[in-house]
Amino acid sequence: SRKTQPSAATLISGILSGDISALSRAITLVESTNLDHLMKANEIIAACLPHANQSLRIGITGVPGVGKSTFIEAFGKHLTAMGKKVAVLAVDPSSTISHGSILGDKTRMEELVKDKNAYIRPSASGETLGGVARKTRETIILCEAAGFDTIVIETVGVGQSETAVHSMVDFFLLLKISGAGDELQGIKRGIMEMADAIVINKADGDNVAKAKLAKTEFNRALHLFPAKTSGWIPKVTTCSAYEKTGIDAIWDLISEYSSLVKSNGYFGEKRQEQNQYWMMETINEQLKNHFYHHPEIIALLEQKKKAVQNDELSPFAAAMDLLGQYFK
Ligand code: GDP
Repeated sequence: SRKTQPSAATLISGILSGDISALSRAITLVESTNLDHLMKANEIIAACLPHANQSLRIGITGVPGVGKSTFIEAFGKHLTAMGKKVAVLAVDPSSTISHGSILGDKTRMEELVKDKNAYIRPSASGETLGGVARKTRETIILCEAAGFDTIVIETVGVGQSETAVHSMVDFFLLLKISGAGDELQGIKRGIMEMADAIVINKADGDNVAKAKLAKTEFNRALHLFPAKTSGWIPKVTTCSAYEKTGIDAIWDLISEYSSLVKSNGYFGEKRQEQNQYWMMETINEQLKNHFYHHPEIIALLEQKKKAVQNDELSPFAAAMDLLGQYFK
């Protein structure tokens, strides 16, 4: 039997009173591809927006196996023990391909999932990273309106997902483990440049000394980057998510960051910049979408591709022909 769906007004008052099932239902609407659902979602988001923005948004990235879920569980428990309310979201574009999310899986954070002051939501699926990112951004607003004061957004370095997450958080944390010596090998320079902290996880047992060496090496490397406009000097620290050591120090440094950027105005400026960025990104995404789904463009695209392939048209001329057709 079909259950009647709660109205937007019911969901809004539910969310604002911290009701998790109302929050979950609203997020499902945000993630839907059904136009009616999206219109309802928009109404809910508009009502939640004045109640959002009060949280600290923390992005966490690291390759599979580095210990993200173990870390988020330890970190999340540390925060809820301090009386905080923590929402954990994920941006996982790989789920759009494999249809199986490797992140934000509830079974990976057994303790946190049972914690009534924590909310874990797996990654939305979508055709594009832009689509997934839009849903995550709107989910942040809903979680904040529901009273979550710390939003953790996890991502694995797939495609441009770190960049997308970096543009929706206040603080960006790169999780690493100490390697066989050359710690900097295989790290994308851009990722290090985005990091507000580099945390070397698994600093336990035989790994402690190696982790300390890695810390020195990362510190040295970070000094080579230009100073951040936030005025913050990125920190390198070690922890063991498994033994739950070093977790409190990580929260302390995030708090230090937060006080600094709130007092120098950077916090608000960055959020404004992010809002502008996502507005423009949405326009780009929608225009692209509309263009490629336009019947005349669909009809012409293959023909123009062939012409380019056969050297009958330059790529530029072909693109201009198609755009001319679209805008005529
Ligand atoms: P993710 O893929 O980045 O989410 O990594 P997981 O949290 O699933 O951890 C991958 C593996 O590393 C698991 O077997 C964990 O038990 C282990 N692990 C995570 N954190 C630590 C740690 O601090 N110390 C040790 N020794 N192992 C850890």
